[in-house]
Amino acid sequence: MRQPGLKDYLRIAASGMTRREFLKNSALAAIGSRVPAKGPFAREAKTGESAERVRKGNMAYRRLGRTDLFLSEIGLGGSPPPPEPVFRRAIEMGVNYVDTSSVYLNGNSERRIGEILKGRRDKFHIATKFHFSRGWGDARDSLIREAEGSLQRLNTDYLDILLAHNVSSARVVEHEEVLAAFEKLKKEGKVRYTGVSCHRNPVEVLTSAIRGGRYDMITVAYNAFSETFREEGEAVDDNRKTSGVGKVLAFAKERGVGVVAMKTMAGVPREHLDENLGEGVSLPQAKLKWVLEDDAVSAVITEMDTFDKLEENLAVSGKPLSPAENEFLMRYVEAAGRDVCRLCGTCLPGCPSGIPISDVLRCLQYHRDQGKTDLARRTYRAIPAARTARGCTRCGTCEQTCPYGVQIVHHLRQAHRVLA
Ligand code: SF4
Ligand code: SF4
Repeated sequence: MRQPGLKDYLRIAASGMTRREFLKNSALAAIGSRVPAKGPFAREAKTGESAERVRKGNMAYRRLGRTDLFLSEIGLGGSPPPPEPVFRRAIEMGVNYVDTSSVYLNGNSERRIGEILKGRRDKFHIATKFHFSRGWGDARDSLIREAEGSLQRLNTDYLDILLAHNVSSARVVEHEEVLAAFEKLKKEGKVRYTGVSCHRNPVEVLTSAIRGGRYDMITVAYNAFSETFREEGEAVDDNRKTSGVGKVLAFAKERGVGVVAMKTMAGVPREHLDENLGEGVSLPQAKLKWVLEDDAVSAVITEMDTFDKLEENLAVSGKPLSPAENEFLMRYVEAAGRDVCRLCGTCLPGCPSGIPISDVLRCLQYHRDQGKTDLARRTYRAIPAARTARGCTRCGTCEQTCPYGVQIVHHLRQAHRVLA
């Protein structure tokens, strides 16, 4: 049966129904598990609206899967972390979660966060990451050493969440050395919960992590572009969550695995689009609300480097996506959909030149959409020269397989031009 398309969606929006209502009315929303709260934070669950959500001041907090962590709906991205005054204001406004990694800014992201959180560690949840590919030889011990380095830089004796970073193969999430490292760190009280983050091939990687039962949470690219695909040349919305990341999130919820959404602001800046999308709606707010409408999501992480961005983003907590915002967003997705890689990995096996297409397009998105040109160049230049966009023969195979109709060749060339 054909899925409802964007035009159907616009009709739904015009009827005044929110996306959540639509999902409920259609009896299509995934039914998640309700694991009872446990641990030292369990009492928090009794003070608020439900066992899964609480509200304090203007910030809503959601329980992270089956853990006893309640995360502010809006968390801080740590690549880079906000300047100290903005970070402090975020804490005052109720933010209690930051996501970093041992490699962000060569460890300086963790150092800055460690400095800022001195004296308030117990009020904040920290997630950081280690990297399996660095230590195939003595993987378990390398990973443990890396996590201990993070503890030192963060000025703390425990991590709320430790994730395997940027995993692109199910082999890594299931690897006994990775699991052994997590187990030892947990036993020693250095890590409370385990997670995996993924920029490529999320269906394979994350389905495996969720099914195996050893991971408490996932961090995944999820945004308004995630649930569309192309059918007979038309953009179609996957309200049923029967494919892609939507399906992974429903599975995570069913198994009590927490979800933190990243890349929530994906998409070209609206001023770069030819189409006039209308006025009166904040695009960043609509993007965040769209993600938070999904009950499987506990929190979004986003980079907020100014007070203005902080105020604008935090204002969405606890607020539903309005029909006007929804309609605006769907127009935006339709206009920008062919410029945004969903990082699904579908095109990768078919490329005869072995180009890591989604990595290249991710670099372009850092530069074009987020203004993070240094990071984009560093990441792009780390790709072996023969596998950069220079190696593309323009055979077109990737564009035939991309379910989202992304104009891959054009964007690869653009990436190479500005980032090589
Ligand atoms: S067009 Fe380029 S990137 Fe796409 S499959 Fe062919 S060689 Fe690979
Ligand atoms: S270009 Fe298309 S198929 Fe390839 S990873 Fe991106 S969205 Fe998926």
